[in-house]
Amino acid sequence: MSQHVHVRLRAGLAVSEDGELVEHSRCRCGETWVRTYRVDDTDPERE
Ligand SMILES: [Zn+2]
Repeated sequence: MSQHVHVRLRAGLAVSEDGELVEHSRCRCGETWVRTYRVDDTDPERE
């Protein structure tokens, strides 16, 4: 079995309908990843 260290290249960023940041990454070998980040931009003290 051949293995190599994946290099995650950012392939794109998007914002879902729920307001989450969706990051697409991929390696040159073809492996892909999708990571979602919850963006908590709520500030209760903001007017
Ligand atoms: Zn790879």
